[in-house]
Amino acid sequence: MDVAVIGGGIAGSCASLLLQKLGFQVTLFEKGKSLGGCAGSFIRNGIEFKTAATTIPGLLLPFPISTLFSEINLKQNFKILNPSIIILTPKGVVRRFLSLEQTIDEINRVFPNKRHFYFWKKIYEVTFQFFDKIPIFNLSSPNLVLSTLKYMKWAFLKFGSLYFTPAIRFLKKYYNTIDREYLEFINSQVMITAQTEISNVNALIMLLSLGYPFTGISADTVDFENFKIQMNERRINLMLSTAIESIDRKQNGYVLKSNGTEYKFSKLVLAHPFLENTDMIKDKKIRKYLDSFKPLLNDNGAIVLYGVLRNFKPQGSFYLLTGNKISTFTSRELFISFYSSKDNSSTVFTISTHTKVSDWLRLDKDRYKSTKEVLKSEILQILLQTFNIRSDQIEESFLATPITFKRYLGRFNAGGIPMSMKNHILRIPPNITPFSGLYLCGDMSFGYQGWLGVSVGLVNLINGIKDERFRTKDYAV
Ligand SMILES: Cc1cc2nc3c(=O)[nH]c(=O)nc-3n(C[C@H](O)[C@H](O)[C@H](O)COP(=O)(O)OP(=O)(O)OC[C@H]3O[C@@H](n4cnc5c(N)ncnc54)[C@H](O)[C@@H]3O)c2cc1C
Repeated sequence: MDVAVIGGGIAGSCASLLLQKLGFQVTLFEKGKSLGGCAGSFIRNGIEFKTAATTIPGLLLPFPISTLFSEINLKQNFKILNPSIIILTPKGVVRRFLSLEQTIDEINRVFPNKRHFYFWKKIYEVTFQFFDKIPIFNLSSPNLVLSTLKYMKWAFLKFGSLYFTPAIRFLKKYYNTIDREYLEFINSQVMITAQTEISNVNALIMLLSLGYPFTGISADTVDFENFKIQMNERRINLMLSTAIESIDRKQNGYVLKSNGTEYKFSKLVLAHPFLENTDMIKDKKIRKYLDSFKPLLNDNGAIVLYGVLRNFKPQGSFYLLTGNKISTFTSRELFISFYSSKDNSSTVFTISTHTKVSDWLRLDKDRYKSTKEVLKSEILQILLQTFNIRSDQIEESFLATPITFKRYLGRFNAGGIPMSMKNHILRIPPNITPFSGLYLCGDMSFGYQGWLGVSVGLVNLINGIKDERFRTKDYAV
């Protein structure tokens, strides 16, 4: 059976390998010249820059990343960092260690409070319990409805009360008073994982966002070249530099168009930013279905400042700078990643922050250019001051905005569907759609964003497809 996958980011690249393993004949269409999407990299003036995602989390836990990597034969040895992230707050530096005790000591040093022990112990416990079981969330067949209900019962008993409690109310239960800086320290970590403010999330999402550095984070780059080699060996038809322009549904499948050529497939996986690109879908019912999920995306895009430093060796790989006050165009946290250039001669950095897409769309060409320049120099100033770097150590730097992301990756939106209380798990697009042979994966569908979220969706997708194939066989008999 043939299947087309649109989009070669984490979701589409992994889905293609997994589907081939199930016996499908796979064609993967990717708009860009290489695989990886937001988690990939690009080369400029001979230096490799990570496009957006710089961390791979969840490596210490048996699920879901390590399971996914072994399923797709990705045999990279990832080095796990300890501390995972270094958080720079106006009150002092907090290193997020893998161990609970060390983490609490650090937090107590900067924000002294006897109640930290109970709060952070809860975070630690919930993080490990939550990822202990594979969430099956699939209502596409009787079998999977049953597994879903079983999972939901377990999850409801364990986490139900956290799920229905707003994060702020939960915090107040643990702390009588919460000082502004400590709240900002918590909020900044929620923002970079849940993609929304603490006031919008439930207690479970807050605890998991804060537990993220306990899951084992690596600064290594996932080798998407290895994906390409595997795809070649497994006869996956990889069509790079091929943007799909339209999708239609015909009696026995789907018709895709790109650059004047038509392709027909019986099954289709949308692994590109489909919620932002529903106008390419010609079938009215499918478009209406996907359009109904559009309100789940918020106005969040990303600004990323890329650059190269000479004679600078940072102490850590990841820094989260809280409470920045640079401009109305950015949120209050900056996420800074450092890594060595391939030849080890210099240090590459990427600094990312949230921004409102609508702010950028309002600007005319000149204002766009000048705003970029102002932001670039403001962020560079912060970098120089924070790490005691001289301006002549900067070899080069350039800034990407939501407009840049749209041009190269087909998306203004940065982090997929935010994990707010409003966007709860029953509301986000499921991996198996009501349309025969049409599937969704990636950060605009079940599982949410990042390596962790996308891999949850992939496991779910494969479970659903396996089941459907089994059912089809049954019916055929
Ligand atoms: C600044 C930033 C920092 C982040 N940091 C982290 C991090 O440190 N760790 C982490 O785990 N996550 C991080 N994330 C989130 C993570 O990068 C994404 O959630 C994840 O990479 C999404 O993968 P995806 O495959 O769903 O989508 P994408 O990566 O968007 O991939 C979709 C692919 O589809 C292609 N495409 C688009 N339109 C078409 C078309 N018409 N035809 C064919 N192909 C098309 C695109 O070129 C792209 O390659 C970050 C995100 C951002 C923006």
